[in-house]
Amino acid sequence: MKEVEYTQDKQNIRIKKKKRKLNLIRLLIIIILCLITFLGGRASAAVSHVSDENQDKPAAAEPLAGQWNLLLINKNHPVPENFNVELVQLKNGQAFDQRAYPDLQNMMEDARASGLSPYICSSYRTMEKQTTLYNKQVEKYQEQGYSLEDAKEQAGKWVAVPGTSEHQIGLAVDIVAESNQVLDKSQENTAEQIWLMENCYKYGFILRYPDHKSDITGIGYEPWHYRYVGKEAAAEITQRGICLEEYLDTFYSAPKEIDFVPVSPTSAISSKAYSTSAVKFVEEVVAPVTASTREITCLSSSFCSNSS
Ligand SMILES: [Zn+2]
Repeated sequence: MKEVEYTQDKQNIRIKKKKRKLNLIRLLIIIILCLITFLGGRASAAVSHVSDENQDKPAAAEPLAGQWNLLLINKNHPVPENFNVELVQLKNGQAFDQRAYPDLQNMMEDARASGLSPYICSSYRTMEKQTTLYNKQVEKYQEQGYSLEDAKEQAGKWVAVPGTSEHQIGLAVDIVAESNQVLDKSQENTAEQIWLMENCYKYGFILRYPDHKSDITGIGYEPWHYRYVGKEAAAEITQRGICLEEYLDTFYSAPKEIDFVPVSPTSAISSKAYSTSAVKFVEEVVAPVTASTREITCLSSSFCSNSS
């Protein structure tokens, strides 16, 4: 009898043990489920947080045709007839759009801080100035034996025809090395151009007429001509390795290809102009230099007065 009781006790203990085990397993399952629920909740919260952040950000960078810094000027898009701009006068007589000037100043200062000697040899030009440069270029080709018509055609590929130069809107600068102020391909090997080409986008500038883009820009390779487009556009243009025309392609229906068979003038001086159009300029828009205006130190040079 005692043996039977002992056996029952043993069985009861086993059952109790089993129950405990089951309870423990249930508890573990509950804990695991709670953990899963908790972590899942956190994950979804994080996701929705990110998407909220994305919603706060403006839509992907879409260049607006009306933005002053993205104004496209080329053979097919001359300077608007009613165009006007407020300029800041630089120390050496050059002038630049006052809105973009701080970025230009910063770029020049940082280049100098890197031990370089960049020099702005050309910036804003009036219609009159552009016409003079263009006519000079035409004469150079005529001296090489070109007919007037052919000389104009060739000149237009290196000096923007008056009315179609970016220099006329105050957003373009020709920057050279103080040690080499000749506007030819040798510029690309100077420490100044290497630095500028690598860093200009950080200040909102692009090398406007890169190599291999002449069929689109209509202008030959100019490793000295920088155009201000703003930091956002400059970063995208640089990153994608495109030119301004390609960047703005959505907004302009200009022919993608411009006839371009350049014959470099023997003097290796490049500049651009386009055919004259009835563009009227307000000549006296140069802002006076004030005491608070920082000025870019420039030398005067007779070498690089011509370029696109
Ligand atoms: Zn230029």
